[in-house]
Amino acid sequence: KKIIIAIDGFSSTGKSTVAKQLAKALGYVYIDTGAMYRAVTLFAMNHNLVGQGYLREKELEEKLSEIQIHFKLNPTTDVADVYLNGENVERKVRTLEVSQYVSPIATVSAVRRKLVEQQQKMGEEKGIVMDGRDIGTVVFPKAELKLFMTASAEKRARRRHDELLERGEHVSYEDVLENVVTRDKIDVSREDSPLVKAESAIEIDNSNLTLQEQFDKILSLSKK
Ligand code: C5P
Repeated sequence: KKIIIAIDGFSSTGKSTVAKQLAKALGYVYIDTGAMYRAVTLFAMNHNLVGQGYLREKELEEKLSEIQIHFKLNPTTDVADVYLNGENVERKVRTLEVSQYVSPIATVSAVRRKLVEQQQKMGEEKGIVMDGRDIGTVVFPKAELKLFMTASAEKRARRRHDELLERGEHVSYEDVLENVVTRDKIDVSREDSPLVKAESAIEIDNSNLTLQEQFDKILSLSKK
């Protein structure tokens, strides 16, 4: 029987890595909801609705209907890329600049409503692994398996920093650490759908797990 697997947790805890592995092993669809918040953020940046020290919430709300987000499989990576109004923005949404504005954007209720609705529609087809911050609590409170990922802030920043360097973005470890910590703070303290572990979620602290150990553990949970 195909199920919905909800993976939530703090920034850079490796949610997407494990979600991708799991989707592949089970023949499920993987949906990265963070990419959707990032695409909205890119749109807001392009329209000067967010920037250093400002967020034009009302104008963003008025423009939400102009934002179309979809995913399309990239045959090279075998993972879905995110598209904003027809443009593949998979690379653009991963920059540290987008990471700096995304959590404020994610506090806007109208943005969350729009994206949650779209995510719930994607889940009508069972057999999905979805990762984010509110999947087990808000998007799919009835998901058959819920995971909550954690790891120390330093481990997380180290991993994210390596990733950015690999992509050719030269940023300092300190800036990445600050971004990770700040995003978590905004995510747990926002009024609408704060980041919190769902009651029935299984917590996985992967600070000291190898990718293989973590995958084995989660795969066995998904088969219970
Ligand atoms: O998962 P990722 O780190 O790419 O998400 C970027 C940001 O989007 C998070 O820091 C969070 O502020 C927001 N987000 C959210 N709810 C989700 C997914 C992401 O608020 N379901």
